[in-house]
Amino acid sequence: MDYKVMIGLEMHCEISETKTKVFSGAKNDFSEYPNDSVKPIDMAFPGTLPTVNKEAVRMSLMASMILGCSQPEYLYFERKNYYYPDLPKGFQITQETKPAPIGSYGEFIYEHEGKKKKARINNLHLEEDAASSDHYPSGSRINYNRAGVPLLELVTEPDFRSADEAVAFLEAIRNIYRYAGISEADSKKGQVRCDVNVSIMDASLDETNPENWGTKVEIKNVNSFSAVRDAINYEIERQLNLLNSGKKEEIEQETRRWDEESGTTIHMRSKVDAIDYKYFVEPNIPKFKIKKEWLEEIRKSIPRLPYERKETYINEYGITDYDATIIIKDKKISDFYEECIKLKADPKMASNWITTNLLGNLNKLELEFDDLTLTPKMLKDLIDLVESKEISSKQAKEVFLDILTTGKTPQEIVKEKDMKQMSDEEEIVKIANEVLDENPDAIDQYKKGRTNVVDWLTGQIMKKTKGQANPTIARSTMATEIEKR
Ligand code: ADP
Ligand code: MG
Repeated sequence: MDYKVMIGLEMHCEISETKTKVFSGAKNDFSEYPNDSVKPIDMAFPGTLPTVNKEAVRMSLMASMILGCSQPEYLYFERKNYYYPDLPKGFQITQETKPAPIGSYGEFIYEHEGKKKKARINNLHLEEDAASSDHYPSGSRINYNRAGVPLLELVTEPDFRSADEAVAFLEAIRNIYRYAGISEADSKKGQVRCDVNVSIMDASLDETNPENWGTKVEIKNVNSFSAVRDAINYEIERQLNLLNSGKKEEIEQETRRWDEESGTTIHMRSKVDAIDYKYFVEPNIPKFKIKKEWLEEIRKSIPRLPYERKETYINEYGITDYDATIIIKDKKISDFYEECIKLKADPKMASNWITTNLLGNLNKLELEFDDLTLTPKMLKDLIDLVESKEISSKQAKEVFLDILTTGKTPQEIVKEKDMKQMSDEEEIVKIANEVLDENPDAIDQYKKGRTNVVDWLTGQIMKKTKGQANPTIARSTMATEIEKR
């Protein structure tokens, strides 16, 4: 039988760019000190009341628009009731049942292996993050820093057919959050966590009918994209093995977790003992009418997104799709590139320098983009030095490396290393003739028709000048001078 894999994603991303938490005035700051940014409500002190952070709502509405979702007429929240040590109130404020979510039924186009793919969004909702437990040898302690941090949860339809496709989607969304100034979406800071749902169905059946879908297994709280990829691939294997050995009934609807160490998924609970969260509307937050004018204002303020930037790069700056894709992958690099263009650097040259020399060397030197001493102005000046033929492109590479390691400007480096390219034609004519005098055999060969000795002779000029002669001028000079012999 032919099988088809179905994957649905639930992506939780903390909104990191608001000043304060979603329902309290505590700082929304990643802090390494436990219980550093906490207000009484985050610890569920009696008598405390939530106040909705308008910025968090604005950012969520913006994300909802970007994802092609529809926005609700009224904003309200719901209580999801359960007890856990990291949830001292005994409930989480979230948006669960329709029509509460900040975004419903959208569509998002992302690229995978050079092809445009469509993923349907079921909903996007705003909620509060829970606290976290820190584990010490002496025991576990609760850290309330994370309690009440705004959290956006995006739920997709099961539209992904492979782990790579799912990860390409997640990367695209992460990029959107970054470009839109909503979140750093940094997995290392625990800001992004995903639940992945995997099932396998008979490929000959109609996938638009949910009755034909396979039994889904949910893997909860996967905290990096590489772990998402590994967990999905492992789960596909596991389910295929069961199906192929005739143990279809052993695939049960369950929640598993990804165990990084063993590289396997492990059973947590089955869906029969699913928790009843007893949702009801959060009574301490009045319903809030979302005005059309506010939505319009938000729509107009959406910053230029990666795929829009990419179009400009290709259509207006004339760089390749390949290079444009590399540049927009990281907002910081894209911003750097645009800064170069603003300074009137040649767009193609700037793109070449960034995609080959800059990114290659960052890896080699194990530098982070944030540590970079190279500024857009330095790159623009370096490009100009090559364009005006003051230095050769070979010398420019050396200067570039020096900028990265010393932070000096290209002008300073060129001066210190006495690198100016020799463009003085009279000087080059003189050296060309010296070379010819020293190599009468080459002249003979030339006369017998081996015209390509000119290249070798040009090489001799470059050698004599220690690479400082302008290679184009050196070649044309040699071609003229040898004819005179
Ligand atoms: P639950 O009620 O268990 O939370 P939902 O229907 O709300 O399930 O879906 C949760 C997630 O599971 C969504 O991302 C959805 O796309 C995904 N999902 C649902 N059914 C399947 C399936 N058969 N295979 C893979 N993913 C699925
Ligand atoms: Mg949730």
